[in-house]
Amino acid sequence: MKREEFLEKKFNEMCERNAEKNKAFYANPSIAKIDPFKIADGLYYVGDKKVCIHLIDTGDGLILLDSGYFGATHLLVDSIWRAGFDPKNVRWIIHTHGHHDHFGSSEEFRIMYGTKLAIGRVDAEGLREKMKRGHIPYAGFPHASIPQFDREIEDGEIFELGNCKMRCILTPGHTDGVLSLFFDVTYQGEKYLAGMFGGAGVNALRLPYVYYNERTGDPAKEMLRSIEKIRKEPVVVHLGNHPNNNRTLEKRCKQLQEGGNPFIAPCSWHDFLDELKGNVEAVMQENEELEKEISEN
Ligand SMILES: [Zn+2]
Repeated sequence: MKREEFLEKKFNEMCERNAEKNKAFYANPSIAKIDPFKIADGLYYVGDKKVCIHLIDTGDGLILLDSGYFGATHLLVDSIWRAGFDPKNVRWIIHTHGHHDHFGSSEEFRIMYGTKLAIGRVDAEGLREKMKRGHIPYAGFPHASIPQFDREIEDGEIFELGNCKMRCILTPGHTDGVLSLFFDVTYQGEKYLAGMFGGAGVNALRLPYVYYNERTGDPAKEMLRSIEKIRKEPVVVHLGNHPNNNRTLEKRCKQLQEGGNPFIAPCSWHDFLDELKGNVEAVMQENEELEKEISEN
């Protein structure tokens, strides 16, 4: 079997597994619903069990970090209301990267509330070049599409709104244009750095994914470089891109049971980056084995 055929077959198998996994969610997105909650002053979790969405009250309008899966806009709107805010005040959605599970509600927010949409310039270009990089074909949702972005952010750019100054750092790997986000928050009078690694799924580093997305270079090596690039950030409030990154749901559970604020956690950032590095290295090993299998076929 030719290399292309082999990788395509593997990719299709991955897609089928992914579609199967999402089937129950698309039939009824409320199965992933959780109540919104406060993480720090002006910072709320309004995502679900599958993907993180954070809300920042800047004092001059609201920012959302990502907008979740397609088909769940009604649940996001409900979460924003229940967090104590009016969704029509969402002025910007900043997207960590250009995948369907992070921009699913964005176009609807743009249409319903005039929300403006921002994404890293590199991913905006990547999506323009090849829409499939948004993983639309296997989003599993028939009406999925790429939203219209209003602003394209460069590496190191500061996104400013109200009292929020968000540092956007390019951390390629998961996609070519992943943005990791850093900003100050306060909690009980203390100031802390909040930070999110903007794309940590290692599936996207697997050979069949890399082949399908027509990516050049070595995304796994890029992710290792990205990890080093932001390791020095003194993050205390570690935010997840997906809940497993920072163990969002466990921390929330702890918060409900014991009180206090488990999101103020100085070790979480480095623990996560160390674990991620190990996961990336494991995928690199798998990729090598896959290459061997291809050459032996
Ligand atoms: Zn992604």
